[in-house]
Amino acid sequence: MVSVMERLAIRTENKFRSLITKQAYKKGEVMCIIPSENIMDKPNRFTVQIAKDKHTHVGKLAALNHSCNPNVILDTEHMVMIACRDIEKGEELSFFYPATEWEMQAPFICLCGSANCIHVVAGARFLPLSTLENHYLSKHIREEMIELLNGTKSHLEKLQGN
Ligand SMILES: [Zn+2]
Repeated sequence: MVSVMERLAIRTENKFRSLITKQAYKKGEVMCIIPSENIMDKPNRFTVQIAKDKHTHVGKLAALNHSCNPNVILDTEHMVMIACRDIEKGEELSFFYPATEWEMQAPFICLCGSANCIHVVAGARFLPLSTLENHYLSKHIREEMIELLNGTKSHLEKLQGN
């Protein structure tokens, strides 16, 4: 399946990189594996978060841009990239960064212009549940959300106790 990576091309325009597919995919199709040879405990712009304090260097997939209406998901439990809708040959591939990133090292403003645009792309911890629930989320992101909610609950209880 690694050879499928050859069907992905990096396009550079004004120093802006994007990942393009050289073939069409059907919704639900596995497109490639997510590289996991190089795992670190801190994120950078070449990594994707796969667990709490675990970030894998994704090689060519680092050229995937964020989209509020993505066409791929990164399944970090099975370490594969999957088409989340039908994709045409030559299309740019993108995923929803907060689906894997809890707290990003380099936040930025999204200018996609879609009605559901989240604007500030900084990681899942900065988004309301009402936004997150509309997206596919990695297991570690769902776990972090539960931890954050439990922390907030016990904090409120402490405040009320005083
Ligand atoms: Zn957006």
